[in-house]
Amino acid sequence: MPFKMETKESLLSYTLLEPSTGCRIWQRGKATSGHGMVSHDGSQVYTHRLMFYFEHGYFPVLPMQVLHRCNDASCIEPSHLYEGSKEQNIQDACAAGHRNTITPDGVMNPDKVRAIRKRRAEGATCDQIGKEFGISSSNASAISRRHTWRNVD
Ligand SMILES: [Zn+2]
Repeated sequence: MPFKMETKESLLSYTLLEPSTGCRIWQRGKATSGHGMVSHDGSQVYTHRLMFYFEHGYFPVLPMQVLHRCNDASCIEPSHLYEGSKEQNIQDACAAGHRNTITPDGVMNPDKVRAIRKRRAEGATCDQIGKEFGISSSNASAISRRHTWRNVD
């Protein structure tokens, strides 16, 4: 029995189109980072990387990665994906006005900040929140106590 091979069409069939942004949001299994994951040809691959592969015929090799123009890790809309380095990703986020959102732990955004504060208000520990959002517990703490991201209500 051969392993199931995904196609561009099958990947897109597992997404929901977000009309306001054009994002195609992955609806199946996700990594803690928010990136969609799927088994393809016997191994686990990130859906945004697989989609990039279907579009361009190769996987970027580190330090180059498949990045999101829309900053939504779960989006696999081909036109929102591009090859770049992590540094470029951080610069893009800064250019988009999220300067104080960059932490060593990854890229934050106002929606995530609100979600983190909501989880904290619900009684989740900073450790739990850190794991859920892929950031450190001290970072989760700083965000929930409004030491960072004060401008987000
Ligand atoms: Zn998108």
